[in-house]
Amino acid sequence: MYQDVNSNIAKIRQRIAAACIASGRLPEEVRLLLATKTVPANGIRMALKAGETLIAENRVQELKEKWDALKDIPHEHHFIGHLQTNKIKDLLKHDVTCIQSADRIELAEKLYQQLSATSRTMDILIQVNTSGEESKFGVHPSHAADLVKQVAALGTLKVKGLMTIGLFSADSEEVRKCFHMLRILRDEIAAMDIPGVEMKELSMGMSSDLEIAIAEGATIVRVGTAIFGQRPTPDSFYWNEKQD
Ligand SMILES: *Cc1c(COP(=O)(O)O)cnc(C)c1O
Repeated sequence: MYQDVNSNIAKIRQRIAAACIASGRLPEEVRLLLATKTVPANGIRMALKAGETLIAENRVQELKEKWDALKDIPHEHHFIGHLQTNKIKDLLKHDVTCIQSADRIELAEKLYQQLSATSRTMDILIQVNTSGEESKFGVHPSHAADLVKQVAALGTLKVKGLMTIGLFSADSEEVRKCFHMLRILRDEIAAMDIPGVEMKELSMGMSSDLEIAIAEGATIVRVGTAIFGQRPTPDSFYWNEKQD
């Protein structure tokens, strides 16, 4: 089922390189993150063997299930899903280095408390809802700067940038608006020079829209389908409130 993973990765790497060239950027400026929801450990292993190093899950349950099977092969793990406060403890048992989906202060405070107990730190991206779609998580753009300030005041959380899921639309100009908005927000917040905040990362762009995201300055693109194939579970399962 995952026999195409290697050639799919090569194609995505080419798309990233071409998009970088088209916008005068260096391919090294853009990290490829593999969105591995619903992909079993053996599929992920193929991608890691092909040389990929950055993967991310949407659910703590899947993180737990695959962790042991992958721990012998070096890689970095981010978290990109809606995170409920009662799952933080479990998440922290696994060596996740960045939570890209921080979208509310309650979550940040709980994270802070749990991390302080073990004197650990965590990289954080603030997820912004740039599409205005209700089904998507993320802080409202007008509240993003305040949330960054509040999170940055929690010493164990290191804010590194912003994340968004673009509008699902065949109209690329509408999609571009989302990514452009995130970039403007990033620059505005960077100009505030908030202590402890490094507004470097822009995590945006997925299988269908990574070229637009790279043109707008993405530093991390998150790709699932174009590498692992169609998922059996609809994304609404991951992107709506009603999940475990
Ligand atoms: C699933 C997912 C992706 C990848 O989406 P594809 O369209 O499969 O490439 C990216 N970001 C988030 C937050 C996701 O949940």
